Amino acid sequence: MCGIFGVYNNTESAKLTYLGLYAVQHRGQESGGIISSDGKKFHSKLGMGQISEIFAKDDLNGLKGSNAIGHVRYSTAGSTSLLNAQPLAIKFIKGNLAIAHNGNLCNAGSLKEKLEEEGSIFQTSSDSEVILHLIAKSKKKNIEEKIADALSNVTGAYSLLFLLDNKIIAARDPYGFRPLCIGKLKNSFVISSETCALDIIGAQYVRDVEPGEIISFYNKKMHSIKFSQNKKRAFCIFEYIYFARPDSKVFGKSVYSIRKNLGKQLAKESPADADYVISVPDSANVAAVGLAEQSKIPYQIGFIRNHYIGRTFIEPKQEIRDFGAKIKYNPVPETLKGKKIILVDDSIVRGTTSRKLIRMLKHAGVKKIHHRISSPPIKCPCFYGIDTPQKTELIAANKSVEEIRKYIGVDTLSYLSIDGLVKATGMKKEDFCLACFNNDYPVEPPKKKNNGKC
Ligand code: SF4
Repeated sequence: MCGIFGVYNNTESAKLTYLGLYAVQHRGQESGGIISSDGKKFHSKLGMGQISEIFAKDDLNGLKGSNAIGHVRYSTAGSTSLLNAQPLAIKFIKGNLAIAHNGNLCNAGSLKEKLEEEGSIFQTSSDSEVILHLIAKSKKKNIEEKIADALSNVTGAYSLLFLLDNKIIAARDPYGFRPLCIGKLKNSFVISSETCALDIIGAQYVRDVEPGEIISFYNKKMHSIKFSQNKKRAFCIFEYIYFARPDSKVFGKSVYSIRKNLGKQLAKESPADADYVISVPDSANVAAVGLAEQSKIPYQIGFIRNHYIGRTFIEPKQEIRDFGAKIKYNPVPETLKGKKIILVDDSIVRGTTSRKLIRMLKHAGVKKIHHRISSPPIKCPCFYGIDTPQKTELIAANKSVEEIRKYIGVDTLSYLSIDGLVKATGMKKEDFCLACFNNDYPVEPPKKKNNGKC
């Protein structure tokens, strides 16, 4: 869970990157940063918190040069500290090099051990640093070959941006777990986790970086190299369910349309009689609109969300999560009192937040609650960059749907089926990673964490 953004060949590269990072802020709020290159020197500013907290006006003026990359971080590997904030920069034989990474490597632990035995000294606990070491150690000649060589050793999920003195290089893992797209802004190229960030700076979407592709931006052009012939795709379907912004196109398709289809499909699979459809804002809003449309039941605003705190799912510590749930949503009694409602949420992870929300609704006078979830039960942890907890903490891994219904206290509870989920995307099942629902991991999970595997 991270967002990356880069601008090649624009005198305002850092300022545009700053705006782009705002647009992908939902992908990570713990730390962030921008590194720019003026052709000889790197300029950087990194900090903890959100983009608005990290950068002051003077910081942006100091980020000189026509190439820049940026990152917003949510830690799924490595601790929460400024040391692990990205982009991460080093100096090596070819000059300066910085990396911004979205995803999680599966074999970073064993690679790190091996590199340390060979004398490498690591500055951070993030898995992304392993890639820098592998590049620096590669015997290949040019930087694109060195990156391809390094990436042939790592497994897992990665969408990457590299900044060099006079280049930006983008790369995506052979399965394409995480999105990465390219846009054009006059003579500049823009690379982003999501297309919503292209829209914000007026860039035109060109295409996605393909799985197993390295794209190098230099001499004012883009140059493509395939570093893997893998044909199997494993796009993270959770990007459509929850993670990506609905105004983005991800894996070539509109997140809004697909998320709305999830709601429609859910209504077909599990109809219910109610006065209103309401959503858990904001991530379930679009699915609720689809469900309401399909059911011909009016959509109403049942919760007001306080936007001045982070997403509960995105906060790593349990205490913060508990605190967050209480101050984040407030029910609207005028909509809810004496009503039968269909409450739509995108997922149930631990069940603790759902339970609190249901209590609030009952307190507000709701008569009957049909809870509908626009994804299948999450039964297995994610090892590819989405922060789901260990199996022991996943409610659906440990309780039946009926037990969950009782635990959270609703009248009826239904999840979307796996087939219904895939159908709503209009794509093939083979295109997706569905591991958190069906235990079918496309890439072997990290050895140390295997005890968490289903
Ligand atoms: S395990 Fe789930 S969350 Fe993780 S990449 Fe696969 S579909 Fe996405």
